[in-house]
Amino acid sequence: MKNEKLTLAIQKSGRLSEGSLKLLKQCGIGIQNGRNHLKARANGFPLELIFLRDDDIPQYVEDGVAAAGILGLNEVREKNRNVTVVKGLGFSRCRLSVAVPRDADYYGRAFLNNKRIATSYPAILKEFLDTNGLQAEIHPISGSVEVTPGLGLADAIFEIVSSGGTLLSNGLKEVETVLQSEAVLIAKPGLPDKVNRLLQKLLFRISAVQKAANNKYILLNAPKGKLDTIISLLPGVKSPTIMPLAMEGWYSLHSVVREDDFWEVIDNLKEAGAEGILVVPIEKMVT
Ligand code: ATP
Ligand code: MG
Repeated sequence: MKNEKLTLAIQKSGRLSEGSLKLLKQCGIGIQNGRNHLKARANGFPLELIFLRDDDIPQYVEDGVAAAGILGLNEVREKNRNVTVVKGLGFSRCRLSVAVPRDADYYGRAFLNNKRIATSYPAILKEFLDTNGLQAEIHPISGSVEVTPGLGLADAIFEIVSSGGTLLSNGLKEVETVLQSEAVLIAKPGLPDKVNRLLQKLLFRISAVQKAANNKYILLNAPKGKLDTIISLLPGVKSPTIMPLAMEGWYSLHSVVREDDFWEVIDNLKEAGAEGILVVPIEKMVT
């Protein structure tokens, strides 16, 4: 019987490649031959990688050449293929925005009526204009969109923004954010059971990596009289581990805190009498 494997398409080279390979590595998946090949077999998981341009990934997943793929949500929405967005991956965050020349008197979306808008995302832009009842001329461009207003080729642009530095250096200002994007895992709908089980297994590993990244392991010492207060400050996974120290009347507490609550929890713990606080990263977390 044929050994089932999961075929995953990732970007060959570009802004998503490193993040995709890093995530797989954190999931215990390495690749055998380099990225210079079209395909690579993985170690540590029944997985085959296909390296493609990100533009091509939605179609290959829709056609079933790959069961799943990793690419930006922006590209998934633009291509609008029959694929399911399974999970946000948290890297390559950016947004799709409308920008106009810095000195333009932008008074709201109606400004865009009858304007020329250059973009490499014509489908998403068209949807935005239609939803808002706006009429504008869409100029699809594949190269450097940001230079078009300066050259007199467009009145506005619709492009990816991350820091805003490119807009700034081209004399543009961001006026509408239309889509928040990040790398996502997509899959072909209705995968055969065996392949779907592998996909679920991969998702389980990705969740463990994400939870670990959002949490820290915390160790601290406290005298017996202050234990109750300190325990009430520690959210923990279930409840903290408490171990007696060699010194009479002192205890060591171990727990997990969320990255977001971290600084506030530390301040409160110090105030409540915790000492020798250590915070360490967690590599994997399964709850
Ligand atoms: P390909 O050759 O594969 O078609 P590309 O030129 O289309 O590559 P990249 O520039 O590598 O694409 O960007 C890939 C994706 O990374 C984008 O679709 C977007 O989701 C995300 N991205 C783009 N620019 C940034 C940025 N400045 N910061 C973070 N993420 C970004
Ligand atoms: Mg591309």
